[in-house]
Amino acid sequence: MICPKCNAEYLDYIKDCSDCKISLIDSSKIDLQISDLKWTALPDIQGKIYADMITDILNQKSIPNYARMDWAFSAYLVDGANLPGQKIKIFVPKKNLKQALSITTSILGIHK
Ligand SMILES: [Zn+2]
Repeated sequence: MICPKCNAEYLDYIKDCSDCKISLIDSSKIDLQISDLKWTALPDIQGKIYADMITDILNQKSIPNYARMDWAFSAYLVDGANLPGQKIKIFVPKKNLKQALSITTSILGIHK
């Protein structure tokens, strides 16, 4: 299940987003919708805080977006002494990629 507002992913039996207090929607339906558009991933985001900041701005600018956590990556770190990390991919439609990239780089402070 996915929250249509903040794009958080939840397990199937959960019906409401704990942050937004709204009903979740079936992620399989989202995937269907997503496949209609040409989605492109932004560079990997380390940490949910940054991902939230970026999706906030994307939402403000009415750029469609959805975020996916890289669960494999989180699991990988469990046994190590590394700080737990979350790698998050944010997807935007290809036509919005340039604008979304400039938002991402301004937040992350990436310079070419
Ligand atoms: Zn939510």
